[in-house]
Amino acid sequence: MSRPVAPVLIFGAVFAAAAVLAALGYLSLRRWEVAAELQLREQARDTAAMAAEKVEMAVVRAEQDAVASLQAAALDPGFGPEAVDAWRARHSLFGSVYLCDRHGRVLYPTRLSRDDAEVVAALRAEISQKLWERGGRRHLEAQGHLVLAAVILGSSRGPLLVGLRRDEQALNREVLEKALGGAEGKTALAVLDGAGRPVFASRPLPDATPVLTVPFGEALPAWRLALYQPAGLSPRDMVRRQTMIFMAAFALLLLVIAAGLAVTYRLGRRESEIARLKSDFVANVSHDLKTPLSLIRMFAETLEMDRVPDEARRREYYAVLTRESERLSRLIDNVLDFSRIESGRQRYEMAPGSVEPIVHEVLESFRHPLDQQGFKLDVAIAPDLPDVSLDAPAMKQALANLLDNAMKYSGDGRHITVAARADGAEVLVEVADEGVGIPPSERERIFEKFYRIGRSETQGRRGSGVGLALVKHIVEAHGGRVTVESRPGAGSRFTLRLPALR
Ligand code: ADP
Repeated sequence: MSRPVAPVLIFGAVFAAAAVLAALGYLSLRRWEVAAELQLREQARDTAAMAAEKVEMAVVRAEQDAVASLQAAALDPGFGPEAVDAWRARHSLFGSVYLCDRHGRVLYPTRLSRDDAEVVAALRAEISQKLWERGGRRHLEAQGHLVLAAVILGSSRGPLLVGLRRDEQALNREVLEKALGGAEGKTALAVLDGAGRPVFASRPLPDATPVLTVPFGEALPAWRLALYQPAGLSPRDMVRRQTMIFMAAFALLLLVIAAGLAVTYRLGRRESEIARLKSDFVANVSHDLKTPLSLIRMFAETLEMDRVPDEARRREYYAVLTRESERLSRLIDNVLDFSRIESGRQRYEMAPGSVEPIVHEVLESFRHPLDQQGFKLDVAIAPDLPDVSLDAPAMKQALANLLDNAMKYSGDGRHITVAARADGAEVLVEVADEGVGIPPSERERIFEKFYRIGRSETQGRRGSGVGLALVKHIVEAHGGRVTVESRPGAGSRFTLRLPALR
């Protein structure tokens, strides 16, 4: 009872463990997926925020420098529009420049358009008293434009209000290009204006997907910095790819476990089958040895006691003794050769020779039992057979095993044919009977050691199950092979195919 239950329990436990592992693996994979995507996004956000800060600082620094140099120019007593023109030539970042004094007199530009006048008025309205007194800078929205408003002190005309409007192309060229242009890796950074249009991109963006955007500070209000990744490299794609790899590895692992279980199960079954076959083998061999031995003993005793009435009978008894002792030797040879083959000690001594004398010799040793059991034997040996390289005793043994089987498994059939002929580059030796035959499903297995069809008890014959295994080993050692054709109920034909010597 415990034998069949134990493997089922073990395999069930392993499968259950694998299933739990798979479920846990799947759950933690999903969790990891979410966390990994979040982390990749965080990293992207950090990258974008750092880039935005860099841009913002570059803009602020450029503006600071520009204002400081304008302030220095304003200290000159002769400061006027020409000096501003000269300053502008050095600071191309600003497309429009406005300068007016505390009383609202516009010093620059010398010709004021209506739009300019409105910008200046809007700026003046936004500048606090404090800023006029202490000086300083602010970014302001005036008439829809972003303007840097700064109050500079110390000029011969008193505090001056400066309005600076950036030129977008100059901003691209002088600030964004320098701050973002050198970005390495596959990520692209783009600056989007208030309407979401890219005004600058660190590399072309045709098939890149936007991952996220971050705002700038007050120097670039309403603008955003966007981080793009090429198709297939976005955090989601990367996580998905990793997940697929994990899943595939996991599936492979489960497959290996399943295959391992299947192989272990098969090996276990095979082991127990071999153990059973071995115990049958011992019982069968003992029985096979006993039969000729008891015959030998019985006839020898009868002869010894001189109870045999006439010479003819006596000769017959001697023949039985010879035949049975030959049978005994053959059985013992089979077992000994089999054990030598199993331990890898079997050696064959090959020499060129003809199969014809071997066939005759074996048939001669079988003549008596064949006659006695009423077999009709047909022998057809082709003339001029090419020689083969052979170990004569081994070849005799192979042929004897085939003949022995042909007799054993003849059922009611009483006709055996032995033939030898050349076929192309091979010499064929055939043994055919008209006996019980072999089902197609068993035709491979009968050559395995210990294997007997349905233990062959149904066929009413005992045997060791190593006869055909030996035949196969012997012909293969001769560079040949053994084949079988058979029809259940109609008989079998075993053919030894040996390479001919030219
Ligand atoms: P055994 O000692 O059982 O004869 P073998 O290795 O010689 O062992 O043969 C293996 C099995 O093949 C036999 O048990 C028998 O079932 C089957 N077999 C062998 N030769 C024949 C044959 N000529 N006709 C039918 N079945 C055969």
